[in-house]
Amino acid sequence: MKKTASVKKATVAPKKAAVAVEKAAPVKVVATKPPKGESRTALVRRARRINRELAEVYPYAHPELDFDNPFQLIVATVLSAQTTDLRVNQTTPALFAKYPTPEDLAAANPEEVEEILRPCGFFRAKTRSVIGLSKALVENHGGEVPGRLEDLVKLPGVGRKTAFVVMGNAFGRPGITVDTHFQRLVRRWQWTEETDPDKIEAAVGALFPKSDWTDLSHHVIWHGRRICHARKPACGACPIAPLCPAYGEGETDPEKAKKLLKYEKGGFPGQRLKPPQAYLDAGGKPAPPLGAG
Ligand code: SF4
Repeated sequence: MKKTASVKKATVAPKKAAVAVEKAAPVKVVATKPPKGESRTALVRRARRINRELAEVYPYAHPELDFDNPFQLIVATVLSAQTTDLRVNQTTPALFAKYPTPEDLAAANPEEVEEILRPCGFFRAKTRSVIGLSKALVENHGGEVPGRLEDLVKLPGVGRKTAFVVMGNAFGRPGITVDTHFQRLVRRWQWTEETDPDKIEAAVGALFPKSDWTDLSHHVIWHGRRICHARKPACGACPIAPLCPAYGEGETDPEKAKKLLKYEKGGFPGQRLKPPQAYLDAGGKPAPPLGAG
């Protein structure tokens, strides 16, 4: 849509953005020419370069939902629709304290579950989903969360997005999580013009080796939550501005853009309240994004 205009802007973006980048994050700034009718090979190279740059910006990227096991992750992911991971993390401790297993939640009184889930929004529908999901786990999977895509997507309330979150983060099987951030960013980067999530998943998956898929999803989603926002992307403080054909869709003034940064990039707490050991630093303290206070 804004293809021509955005590409044109991108050709003048890097220098100005690069200044902000150096201030905003310790990231090496590259001056790569943005795309216009770029070849498939060039697209693959640029996409992988963006992912590599994002890996340096978010070396600690990980799922932002608190969970101790696959059951908690699948329930938390279902609850995260239309709300923040932080809100879910504030809600699930009470839920899992009262209903620690699929058997417990399957047998729960819906009204009591609704009361716990109220802060997450859409609490009646979400209550139906997590109770239905738990019943299906008990009846069809012996109370265990299955690790295969074809089984996961048959569970009530579980689509491909949730299934890939669970596969990637609870079972270590590569998956691409096409959430709202992922959809917006890959279109801004002109990785694909598809709008259907399944087609986006296939198109983007083809640009990367499978082993990169889970980390790629984290990098893109973290960038969407912190810098490349839906309404006001912080282009002037964006470490990958030189690689982005949509540079200029948001605030390009470095100082103003810095004020738009969120979570740890803006000097605020992250979303996880219960960071796992793997995300703690050598001194046992939460790594940067997890410094929730
Ligand atoms: S904030 Fe988003 S739109 Fe702006 S330069 Fe960065 S990636 Fe591109």
